[in-house]
Amino acid sequence: MKKYSAFAIAREAFRQHTGWERAWAKSEPKKKYDVIIVGAGGHGLATAYHLGKNFGITNVAIIEKGWLGGGNTGRNTTIIRSNYLQDPSAAIYEKARSLYETMSQDLNYNVMFSPRGVIMLAQTQHEVRGYQRTAHANALQGVKTEWISPQRVKELVPIMNIDGPRYPVLGGLYQARGGTARHDAVAWGYARACSDMGMDIIQQCEVTGVRTTAGKVVGVDTTKGPIDCDKLGMVVAGHASVLAQKAGFRLPIESVALQALVSEPIKPCMDVVVMANTVHGYMSQSDKGEMVIGGGTDGYNNYTQRGSFHHIEETVRALVETFPMIARLKMLRQWGGIVDVTGDRSPILSKTPVEGIFVNCGWGTGGFKAIPGSGWAMAELMAKGHSPLTEEFSMFRFREVKFIDESVAAGVAH
Ligand SMILES: Cc1cc2nc3c(=O)[nH]c(=O)nc-3n(C[C@H](O)[C@H](O)[C@H](O)COP(=O)(O)OP(=O)(O)OC[C@H]3O[C@@H](n4cnc5c(N)ncnc54)[C@H](O)[C@@H]3O)c2cc1C
Repeated sequence: MKKYSAFAIAREAFRQHTGWERAWAKSEPKKKYDVIIVGAGGHGLATAYHLGKNFGITNVAIIEKGWLGGGNTGRNTTIIRSNYLQDPSAAIYEKARSLYETMSQDLNYNVMFSPRGVIMLAQTQHEVRGYQRTAHANALQGVKTEWISPQRVKELVPIMNIDGPRYPVLGGLYQARGGTARHDAVAWGYARACSDMGMDIIQQCEVTGVRTTAGKVVGVDTTKGPIDCDKLGMVVAGHASVLAQKAGFRLPIESVALQALVSEPIKPCMDVVVMANTVHGYMSQSDKGEMVIGGGTDGYNNYTQRGSFHHIEETVRALVETFPMIARLKMLRQWGGIVDVTGDRSPILSKTPVEGIFVNCGWGTGGFKAIPGSGWAMAELMAKGHSPLTEEFSMFRFREVKFIDESVAAGVAH
């Protein structure tokens, strides 16, 4: 793989950009792999990457039914933060956030990580107590966050109306090194690195069945034929329970559409990410100038990967009191993704009842931020059989009533 650099850009400028290689190879399935990962979203690709990088396991196929990054990874609003309440969550999300800091250098691919700061607004007394508690928990966990006053919120985001009649801003939980990254680039960067290690990325290939013998996985059936493997990683987000059913076990996951929208591009007006969880809305400004706006999930379980009109109205109505200027914006487009939600709003990174099958799902509305940490931990779990970062996130915790309750940090927000 040729290295991307300023020198390479200059070199290619002189030869009309004819020397760039394909970022990743187009692959057809082999008969057998040591590891198959189902799902070429960020979590699947990051898992494959760390299997190769951290453990030297490179006889790996990543199988994707659509196109790489075409699931939630390419549909999210890209918010990155690690200010969660519970210790196991803070550990894995902070691992991920810290890996984002150097991801562009590690992958030699510009993922446009922008640690511009994230504020979670407190607009009720209940939220004030909740976020102050999280700030204290974060201090103990070594995660750098702070509780800030309404005046400081206004200084950071001058376009905000902090004196709204219904929900005035009472303060905020601020993480200065939170921010955003370019979601497609994260998937593309990992794909390029995996391909460079000799892994096969097989797109347009759906896994239609899971083959087991004596309680152990032996392979998968796909639309491109059967493929054998020693270990299988299921990393398919909103379709996790569908795939688990094919392997003969159930997951405590509900699938539901989450929607987002963007406005027409405008001049730079907000260089912080703001989340307003009481009213169900969050907003940042993209590098192109669009206001990227997200809201809540649909109120019923579904698999529709699309937006709906009432969500635009609900989300914009929710935000307009705090950001009056968006009332005059034209909205450009909207979309939806199928998110995989657990009862305690925490993910599942786990062994399963079938030997050799591992599952990584349940990231719900907030898994983009976790991609590098999740990949790191899942690779360790698959390679060694255990990982300190995944211990608490077993699928069996629901049976054992060992919930990791993140409903304040993750139930609505991202
Ligand atoms: C509108 C929206 C906004 C969001 N905003 C944020 C945010 O701001 N911050 C944040 O941290 N998170 C956010 N999220 C959540 C985040 O996008 C997801 O948690 C994360 O992208 C999940 O990544 P993944 O790799 O697990 O899943 P995906 O990217 O969905 O990848 C799973 C892949 O598996 C494939 N697949 C499924 N079944 C099969 C099969 N049988 N065979 C082969 N392939 C299969 C799918 O095609 C898909 O490409 C948001 C999500 C949405 C929808």
